[in-house]
Amino acid sequence: MAKLGTTPNRYMPELPEVETVKRLLEKIVTNRTIIDIKVLRKNNVKNDPDIFVNSLKGETFLSMSRIGKFLIFHLSHDKVIVSHLRMEGKYYELDKNEPNTKYSRVVIYLDNKKKLCYDDSRCFGYLKLSSEKEYKLDKEIRKIGPEPWDADISTVIKQAKNKSIPIKTALLSQEIITGLGNIYVDETLFASKIHPLTPANKVNKKEWETILKESSRILKEAIESGGSTIKSYHPGKDIDGNFQTRLLVYGKNGSNCPICHHPYRFIKVNGRGTTFCPNCQILKNKQLKVAIFGPISSGKSTVLQTFKENNIPTISADEVVNNLYQRKDVIEIINKTFDLQGNTVDRNLLRNKLSKDPKLIKKIDKIVWPLVKEEISLFIKKHPKGIVVAEVPLLFEAKMENMFDVLIGVESHKNEKLLKNRDGNKAQELKIINSISTYQKNKEKADFIINNDSNLNSLNNKTNKIINKLIDRLD
Ligand SMILES: [Zn+2]
Repeated sequence: MAKLGTTPNRYMPELPEVETVKRLLEKIVTNRTIIDIKVLRKNNVKNDPDIFVNSLKGETFLSMSRIGKFLIFHLSHDKVIVSHLRMEGKYYELDKNEPNTKYSRVVIYLDNKKKLCYDDSRCFGYLKLSSEKEYKLDKEIRKIGPEPWDADISTVIKQAKNKSIPIKTALLSQEIITGLGNIYVDETLFASKIHPLTPANKVNKKEWETILKESSRILKEAIESGGSTIKSYHPGKDIDGNFQTRLLVYGKNGSNCPICHHPYRFIKVNGRGTTFCPNCQILKNKQLKVAIFGPISSGKSTVLQTFKENNIPTISADEVVNNLYQRKDVIEIINKTFDLQGNTVDRNLLRNKLSKDPKLIKKIDKIVWPLVKEEISLFIKKHPKGIVVAEVPLLFEAKMENMFDVLIGVESHKNEKLLKNRDGNKAQELKIINSISTYQKNKEKADFIINNDSNLNSLNNKTNKIINKLIDRLD
């Protein structure tokens, strides 16, 4: 059997679905007396099965409640059944003589010719006999924080104070507030415009107030809709929640944010798949690492120059490469690999060789890119506060995109015209065409796109606007 943590994206019922189950069960069991119980799979009952059955036979269900995702059945004589559905647990009400559901694990016979089947294909859920005195002392139940509508803001802030883990992880732990699993935590953070990786102790009072307000609203709306039906989960027989149609961000990787139309981004936060809008949910940072990429002669260097004029530290991958070609160790290895002579690298000769054999380009990239990466990393480390910018034309080919917080694409239709006026150097033309096509493939990952189809003044204005937005993102 797979371990729980190995299927992080599998859907689990969350608070609205469990609340829906609770409301359904309330109608089914209240005032019904237990005639008999059959435990079909011992592991789904956390007590000795005989004790479980004998203690509950003859007792009457009085009411239902819920703590986080724990269902609590209150019975006569202060007896309590605590149940957790985990991944696939469900309760079905059937006529006494109907066949049990396929994955029935526990069957409770009621005094109205009905039976309640606890069905669980994956067997992670359970029922546990407890008492009114004891069930709240359960280790797992004790850890659970208040639901967002019951939470007190100063307690919440105090709880979060020592937590430097991402806000998403903190909310998923259920300790500060309970009720948000993977679906509703993504929805809440999107509605609150908070980046899922923001350290929990960096979330300010106003933002916590927004989280409480938005999570309350979203959970209540989801409860009203009967929860979300995602993949195979149904809260009961023939019953589907329909909140999934109102989800704005969960499971929507590949589409655009409905508010700003920026493409969503998908990351893992502590192993959990997370979708968010990188434009609406901004991560405040002490340092902001910015990369500029785009095809040849699109205006990247001009954009970089504007950053420089704003006293922002800049570095250019092309310059780094030029410097590398002056380094003795690099000259040696390149000349050796490509069978060249001399105390420098004859770049014309090298270019000639590369244009004749595309395989050699991969070879040189393998030597040069790691060194470029190293130099740029060193440069970034030297500037641990504020904005730092690198122009890396082939950012994605060099697999360097993850080194940066913000990606700026610079494009221009002018370079297509430029292409026509080139000197007929086929290798050069091919290079330009290639650079445009790889740019097109990756441009959707950019946080900003600068279109350089107008004049220099307009290019500078566009860049300055972005610089102002970036300054806002600094902590
Ligand atoms: Zn957005």
